[in-house]
Amino acid sequence: MALKRVFIANRGEIAVRVIRACRVLGLETIAAVSEADRDSLAAELADRAMIIGPAPPAESYLNIAAVLDAAVEAGADALHPGYGFLAEQPALASACAERGIKFIGPDADAIAAMGNKLAARRQAREIGVPVVPGSASVRTQEDAAVVAAEIGYPLLIKAAAGGGGRGIKIVTEAPGLDDAFATASAEARAAFGDETLYMERYVGNARHIEVQVLGDSEGGVVHVGERDCSVQRRYQKVVEEAPAPGLSDALRGDIRAAAVTLAEAIRYENAGTVEFIVDGDRDAFYFLEMNTRIQVEHPVTEMVTGLDLVAEQLRIAGGEGLTVAQSDIRTQGHAIECRITAEDAAAGFQPSPGRIEAWEPPVGDGIRVDTHCRAGDVVPPFYDSLLAKLIVTGDNRLQAVARLQAALARFTVTGVSTTIPFLRLLACQLDFVKGGVNTRWLEGNLEDLKGGI
Ligand code: ADP
Ligand code: ADP
Ligand code: MG
Repeated sequence: MALKRVFIANRGEIAVRVIRACRVLGLETIAAVSEADRDSLAAELADRAMIIGPAPPAESYLNIAAVLDAAVEAGADALHPGYGFLAEQPALASACAERGIKFIGPDADAIAAMGNKLAARRQAREIGVPVVPGSASVRTQEDAAVVAAEIGYPLLIKAAAGGGGRGIKIVTEAPGLDDAFATASAEARAAFGDETLYMERYVGNARHIEVQVLGDSEGGVVHVGERDCSVQRRYQKVVEEAPAPGLSDALRGDIRAAAVTLAEAIRYENAGTVEFIVDGDRDAFYFLEMNTRIQVEHPVTEMVTGLDLVAEQLRIAGGEGLTVAQSDIRTQGHAIECRITAEDAAAGFQPSPGRIEAWEPPVGDGIRVDTHCRAGDVVPPFYDSLLAKLIVTGDNRLQAVARLQAALARFTVTGVSTTIPFLRLLACQLDFVKGGVNTRWLEGNLEDLKGGI
């Protein structure tokens, strides 16, 4: 392994996850922490913790200069960006390159090419990967009206720089267009510093299917199967699973092949995810976007393939290439993940920061919990509210669902509100148990579920 010392420019469960993978490979770790995270599990587990700034993300986890200065001072030879924060900022990758630190991810050009959703759509179309029918950038309300008449309603207005479910607005009919466009544009400017918008046909009966890919530095690309992330709220994933249930072999194969084609076309290096939606009424699939980083839901893929995707990322960055050929990658059984956040679902998913009193995650066969939380820890108000990911596996989907229900029943957290009570009800819904729900299913059942908490 060419790498020795890895700087982790992130927090929370993913920082812990990266430290564990480094341990497996015998690599030293340095955790970058904000003042709010000085006593975090990542700070404790890493060989060294360095404070990069005050609690607000803009002054710490989003501050490229502070991150790079610390990495250089620590003598790190590589930097892992995790997900969120700076993970998809081309500027971080290029700053690393300038300072002689290997960025554990693709190069700045690939991040830029895929980070802008419009550029990514163009790229996909050029190589024959189908994209959702939609527009190029739309600048004015007048242009929006013309484009909307072509696409038809309902449609989505999207921020080219958006991510994490933010920057997406649905417009159901013409009278709502002007207002939605103005709000979307203002929000995109505020959230992403880029007001560029475009429009897409809204696929009513959609499933979110995404393909995990790994690319080496020689242009070799493999896919590691797909995940279904259709259980969503506000365009954000809540439950994810692998493999995707109920897809025909032909459709599954076509989607996987399209992801590989795209990754090969941009000579993608490291781990990435190509996201698609499948139109259930047409048996058609469309490219949505590519995420040029490790994803929150990567563990479900690990559980059904036996691969350690973060270790693969480290090996690729270290120049060792892929340890697996496509023919070595097989999936076995079924895995389901749910995101446990510090939110009060009954109160409209209001954030619930504070001190965790009891923290008793379930243990047992087929149960994995990825978390940074311990009893006594404070959940700060400054960051994403993800506390843990509960991942269950079974020989088949039904066994995984049964384990999910049992594991959620045994997961005890007090001190802060969490989404566990909500997820318990979700996991018992007949539609979910059967599998293959569409992306509107959760929102459509939200009131009932909230009422049951
Ligand atoms: P995944 O795509 O891995 O399922 P999410 O889409 O939920 O993950 O995003 C992971 C994290 O990154 C979340 O904290 C989300 O808020 C954040 N995130 C993703 N994209 C962006 C972006 N463009 N700007 C700001 N935050 C983002
Ligand atoms: P983000 O960068 O925020 O993850 P995506 O483009 O990946 O944005 O979309 C997030 C989610 O929004 C998708 O998983 C899907 O559920 C929904 N979505 C996006 N585009 C469409 C569309 N054209 N029709 C229906 N649903 C869509
Ligand atoms: Mg997405």
